[in-house]
Amino acid sequence: MTTTEAASPELRTLLLSRIRDVQDYPRPGVVFKDITPLLADPVAFNALVDAFAALCRRHAATKVVGLEARGFILAAPAAARAHLGFVPVRKAGKLPGNTHSQSYDLEYGSAELEVQTDAFAANDRVLVIDDVLATGGTAEASVALVRRAGATVAGVAVLMELGFLAGRDRLAKSLSGAPLDALITI
Ligand code: AMP
Repeated sequence: MTTTEAASPELRTLLLSRIRDVQDYPRPGVVFKDITPLLADPVAFNALVDAFAALCRRHAATKVVGLEARGFILAAPAAARAHLGFVPVRKAGKLPGNTHSQSYDLEYGSAELEVQTDAFAANDRVLVIDDVLATGGTAEASVALVRRAGATVAGVAVLMELGFLAGRDRLAKSLSGAPLDALITI
């Protein structure tokens, strides 16, 4: 698995300056990484989309998956910039037609993600994009869904990895050699 930060020092500084820490949100003890200032800054947002599009090319992706909801905002423009199609992975009950479902554990309880069964061709290589990698459960479930839908996982790419939660270690087994790129690791 890739272990280096995928962003240059200049890009890292720019992106970090536009991510706001919100203490105790959505519950006490959590520091929420708010990316809305980054999305509102055309220079930073454009640089972020460029960086994700470059990862699409580096990993020879043929499709891009975005994870509901903030992952959609990052993955869809990256897919378009790399001239690739976009596939949404959504929370249970949101996608019409036949879907694969994958449940995963949260701190309290569990959640379920879905993808449409016909989302990929058999030879598709899929880059999964999300905003934050925390415990890795969301990314792990998404990787499982891509495989169950018959495609190959080209990698997982996130804007920010929270290194202290060891999501990378949790993901390592399910990625089985595919790269995990974090533009920023804290
Ligand atoms: P996890 O499954 O624990 O890796 O959590 C990742 C998902 O939860 C991503 O889709 C993030 O958008 C969201 N998330 C988890 N922790 C944070 C955080 N501290 N700030 C912002 N989003 C977070």
